[in-house]
Amino acid sequence: MPLIDSATIPPLAILSALPQEQRGLMELLHAPHKVTHASRDFWLGSLHGQPVVLALSRIGKVAAATTTAALIERFGVGRIVFTGVAGGLAHGVNVGDVVVAADFIQHDIDASPLFPRYEVPLYGQTRFRADAALSALLFEASCQALAHESLALRKAGGACVHQGLLASGDRFVCGTDESRLLRELTTQAGHAVLAVEMEGAAVAQVCLDYGVPLAVMRTISDRADDSAHVDFPHFVETVASRYAHLVIERLLVMLSKK
Ligand code: SAH
Repeated sequence: MPLIDSATIPPLAILSALPQEQRGLMELLHAPHKVTHASRDFWLGSLHGQPVVLALSRIGKVAAATTTAALIERFGVGRIVFTGVAGGLAHGVNVGDVVVAADFIQHDIDASPLFPRYEVPLYGQTRFRADAALSALLFEASCQALAHESLALRKAGGACVHQGLLASGDRFVCGTDESRLLRELTTQAGHAVLAVEMEGAAVAQVCLDYGVPLAVMRTISDRADDSAHVDFPHFVETVASRYAHLVIERLLVMLSKK
């Protein structure tokens, strides 16, 4: 049974991919209350006066889809914001940059020749869109966070916030040849992918099914190349947790003024 009644404001779900990213938000959560459901921990409470549910997506498309469905069915969330890290795929999408998703593809789905490569069967579509209004706020929050002077990883030339296409698949892409091939194949099919990760497209598909708005931001932790396995854990420990927290705080302030 849903844990909220129809008279209350639907909470905002804040999904994180990694515990390191959730930690900072947990410390800010007012009146936290843990509910375990579907073998996952969901933290209910409020942040900046907004009812929220914090959850870990877990890793990979199936796990993220289960978490998303649980957030909607059981906790009645009205919108979902996702923070995580990703591997930069397009040229110019570098470690420390942020990508806010405009839309998503699943780079590992392939029912060809029955359906075109990358199309999700029976949906008649390849790309799944993020919510434009919520994504615009997340973009603005990301720009503000990036400009924050005490940010741990300020690059000499300044980090960038990009907005565009994310590709998700059940694979940690960590090879220079592999990422080049992925870039070439997706580009040939007309999909200019900015970054690669493992959950976003699955969350977007579930959100489409239920009509729930979604916005996703990913900080670039690695370049999906031969050094990704070294860059990724270092980045997560040093920057990602702090980053998620800074962006979400700014987003909540914006949402509380609406
Ligand atoms: N829990 C393990 C493994 C994380 S898998 C660990 O902490 O070491 C990598 C996570 O970061 C996924 O959530 C994925 O969405 C994202 N990610 C970062 N870089 C990626 C890349 N190069 N390829 C695919 N996913 C990547």
